[in-house]
Amino acid sequence: MKKQLLILLLSVLTLVSCSDESNNSSGQKTGTLKGKVTTINTHKAVGGALVFAFDDEKNIYYAYSNAAGDFELNAPIGDRTLYIQTGDGSNFRTNINVVVQENQTQQLEESSLRLDQVARIAYVSGSYDSIEEIIASLGYETESLTYAQLSDYSIVSQYDIIFLNCGSIASSNSISNNPTATTNLAQFVTNGGSLYASDWAIAYLIGGTNRTTACNASGGFIPDSTLCSLGNGSATTLNALITNSALANAIGLTTLDIEYDLASWQKINSVDESFWEVLVRDSTTNEALMIKTNNFYDQSLAGSRVGNSQNSDWITICHVPDENGSSPITITIEASALQDHLDHGDALGSCSAVGTSGTIYYTTFHNHANQNIGNSQFILEHVILNL
Ligand SMILES: [Zn+2]
Repeated sequence: MKKQLLILLLSVLTLVSCSDESNNSSGQKTGTLKGKVTTINTHKAVGGALVFAFDDEKNIYYAYSNAAGDFELNAPIGDRTLYIQTGDGSNFRTNINVVVQENQTQQLEESSLRLDQVARIAYVSGSYDSIEEIIASLGYETESLTYAQLSDYSIVSQYDIIFLNCGSIASSNSISNNPTATTNLAQFVTNGGSLYASDWAIAYLIGGTNRTTACNASGGFIPDSTLCSLGNGSATTLNALITNSALANAIGLTTLDIEYDLASWQKINSVDESFWEVLVRDSTTNEALMIKTNNFYDQSLAGSRVGNSQNSDWITICHVPDENGSSPITITIEASALQDHLDHGDALGSCSAVGTSGTIYYTTFHNHANQNIGNSQFILEHVILNL
């Protein structure tokens, strides 16, 4: 008798689980949202943007825009907030209210899907690079910082992103003799600030004078054991392979030619891939040409979050796999929604960063004024929007 009851129970349970599987999700009714993500003023297509919405149980529904900026999202029916973000969502994002109707496809207005700049952005101008021109071409605002201002943390800490252009350390200076600026950059990254450095500006990261010419150059805040670079590149054009699939999908390219128009560019001689992620390589030699990390975190420098106060009402979290079968995913949400997410097991901060670390991108190549940099422009645009 007991055995028959058990068999009956088991067969009922099996039926229930089969019926769940045929719905391919938590059983939530959905409709389709389509649209194009663009930059705020210049309306350039943004690939790789995360587009997402939640159902009443805070299960996430998400999609990424393709290289043309287009996305298609199956979203839960009803009144929903649609969030659009790049990077971890703390620096560029927007959100709109939508009404999702069952089994209907709705084309959203392009004008409602433009990424707002939340980040306060600065750059230190250089001799061979001018990333600020690409930022301006996307329609976003930057402020100029001098090299000397990097020694004032009350200034540095006002920003969310600082771009360190190649050639921004004068040859009469030596970053290895500037422990104040170096510590300020370490504190900035530890507390959520993001950096982009190109070519010779690697000296800010791993030491040297106005560039890095030895594997164990003095100065810098990134451990020398994670990265060795010597300024011994020669003028050439390399065929590059994009090894990071998110980057390849976002810009719609897996290979491209990168022009190195100047000699003495910083080749990456060795890189610890447990600390740095390699995104682009020389397709012939396999050498790293572009790397990224969010593993730099110095507990002794941890303090208050840097950057724009607009970010204080929003918070970056790692949303854990939910009933909808998502992977862990980094999102930035209104602080008012935080408790609901903590209640289903989410964690504060991004899924990949150590502590409150910001992101550091480094490229051996860069924008150089008055020259056509071809498809590498798409990579640099991606870096800007994903810091
Ligand atoms: Zn969540």
